[in-house]
Amino acid sequence: MIPLSEPTFTGNEAQYLRECVDSGYVSSVGPFVERFEKMFAATVGASHAVACASGTAALHVALRLAGAQPGRLVAVSDFTFIASANAVTYTGADVLLVDSECATWNMNTELLHDEVCRRARRGERIPDVVEVVHVFGHPARMEPLLELRDRFGILIVEDAAEALGAEWCSGAAAGMGVGTVGDIGCFSFNGNKIITSGGGGMLVTADAELAARAQHLTNQAKLGRTTYHHDTVGYNYRLNNLSAAVGLAQLERLHDAVRTKRGIARRYSDGLGRLPLSVAPRASWANPSYWLYSLLIYENMLGPEHVVSALAERDVQARRVWPPLHAQAPYRSAERLGGEVSEKLYRRGLSLPSSTQLTEADQATVLRALTELFRWRHPART
Ligand SMILES: *Cc1c(COP(=O)(O)O)cnc(C)c1O
Repeated sequence: MIPLSEPTFTGNEAQYLRECVDSGYVSSVGPFVERFEKMFAATVGASHAVACASGTAALHVALRLAGAQPGRLVAVSDFTFIASANAVTYTGADVLLVDSECATWNMNTELLHDEVCRRARRGERIPDVVEVVHVFGHPARMEPLLELRDRFGILIVEDAAEALGAEWCSGAAAGMGVGTVGDIGCFSFNGNKIITSGGGGMLVTADAELAARAQHLTNQAKLGRTTYHHDTVGYNYRLNNLSAAVGLAQLERLHDAVRTKRGIARRYSDGLGRLPLSVAPRASWANPSYWLYSLLIYENMLGPEHVVSALAERDVQARRVWPPLHAQAPYRSAERLGGEVSEKLYRRGLSLPSSTQLTEADQATVLRALTELFRWRHPART
């Protein structure tokens, strides 16, 4: 089976793990946590990085620091993995689901911008925080959010769990990496992400005080090193040294991983151009990292569920994309702005094998399978 996404361990992972075991530092105290944080901050261009037990934990802490709490409203992408919205719900804040734009599949930030301005004019409730997700490795359009922050003080949390290594190449955030444009950025190192630490996450910010508070919250809000005094309800969200060791080794190879992902994406987009589908989005102002290469099949063609099973028969693992959050049980009654685009993405979307160790031969197999599927069963319109 050609897998959808599998981690690759070709660097210092085993050596660093050995060092952990030999030194006895396997828990949340140990040199690799700090080394991982320092190198991560330098890599993404952030001043501060705080390692967390998971991407969801990083988001939870980030949202709490941004002021999310009962009675507050957080705008979040409707089309995303459910962890993005769950982190909001953990804080007790309400969720406002915002539809995607077709061009990038990310939150339609212009739609949100106009809605907030309209509500403000009428004295209606506006979000206190916006959590924007960079889905599948493509950066979201930030300008409308920066304007909302300037005008209304709406803080920006970036869910960059899927987009490590992606950047903007023009516009207000030109030259910046995802996670560093908002007030706080969050990343995930789950097994299927661009780099993995087994499990883990990272919170980045330019604000030293926010970073210190994040560190404090992830460590049970413990005041001293050797005594048991706590000034608030914190969390056991620190990353352990073993995971940090693996994460650091992976981070050392990030550049290669992203370059490989971009090569895979280029070959897919070139190879699929003549089939009845829209290749993975790429805006002219963005340099995506293509975590999972995902496309849309045209409406009148074979549906994605059929394509997934037909590919499985040919030993190719593909997967449908997420149903919109507004259709998921915990968020059916959440407030929302639009939702037709996220529905369409679910109805027609498909992710293809995107591991960094995907060989050109395997990728050719995937392309051949798709070409046969669409050519023989459903001839493309001319
Ligand atoms: C994976 C993911 C998360 C959660 O990260 P974990 O490390 O699995 O907790 C959050 N948001 C998005 C968009 C993700 O893809």
